[in-house]
Amino acid sequence: MLILGAHLSSSNGFLQMGKTALQIGANTFQFFLRNPRGGAAKDIDAKDVEAFLKLAKEHEFGQILAHAPYTLNPCSKDLKTREFAREVFADDLKRMEYVPGNLYNFHPGSHVGQGVEVAISQIVEVLDEVMPEAKHTTVLLETMSGKGSEVGSTFEELAEIISRTKNNAPEQLGVCLDTCHVYSAGYDIVGRLDEVLDKFDKVIGLNRLHAIHLNDSMTEFNSHKDRHERIGFGTLGQEGIIRFINHPKLKGIPINLETPNELEGYADEITLLRGNFKG
Ligand code: FE
Ligand code: FE
Ligand code: ZN
Repeated sequence: MLILGAHLSSSNGFLQMGKTALQIGANTFQFFLRNPRGGAAKDIDAKDVEAFLKLAKEHEFGQILAHAPYTLNPCSKDLKTREFAREVFADDLKRMEYVPGNLYNFHPGSHVGQGVEVAISQIVEVLDEVMPEAKHTTVLLETMSGKGSEVGSTFEELAEIISRTKNNAPEQLGVCLDTCHVYSAGYDIVGRLDEVLDKFDKVIGLNRLHAIHLNDSMTEFNSHKDRHERIGFGTLGQEGIIRFINHPKLKGIPINLETPNELEGYADEITLLRGNFKG
């Protein structure tokens, strides 16, 4: 069974996201706990969560994935921005306790001229402060494309952050692989998928791969750009993406679409992918 969903709007709560997921043929979804540009989180309604958990159980949903705000930058040059990252991160993880057993993904950040080494120390510092809040949540670092001064576009950088963090058991701290980002970062998941997954396994460990963002890309291989495309309309292509979701080493890992689509487009992509899944 393919655990497949898409990024959904959280503005009407958890139950609505669950219902929307069912409408588009999904059995998981990604969402923001607050405005993606930062800002205050909405209060969590315990009744809404309870109704969602019931629905998710009935329909055998896989793990759901919360995405940190884009403004969260744990390795900013600016101390205030790093403090904001720590506060938002910790607060989000407390909220995730309402839906125990799920996933929280964040961008490692942009070092804006400080250099990768300083940035990695700062990211580890933030993780060491917030990880104790992740009691029943797996925290994930997203693989990045390497645009600007982004940290986390190589498996080595992600592995270094993970290895230096205190609470780093594989069920506590892992990685979310974004297909558009890794392809843009120079990992050829279309032509050399086996090699890339072997490399991931050696450097990070496939036991830490807890989620996938499935996107095609508008830009060419190794472009270090971050432009998502609809499935089959980009440089990865439909065939490559179908091979990817069918790879035996990726079996059972929840997949979320972040393609430029409305719900109808997501539904079509989910139909296409489920129809070409051989597991
Ligand atoms: Fe992301
Ligand atoms: Fe992503
Ligand atoms: Zn992206």
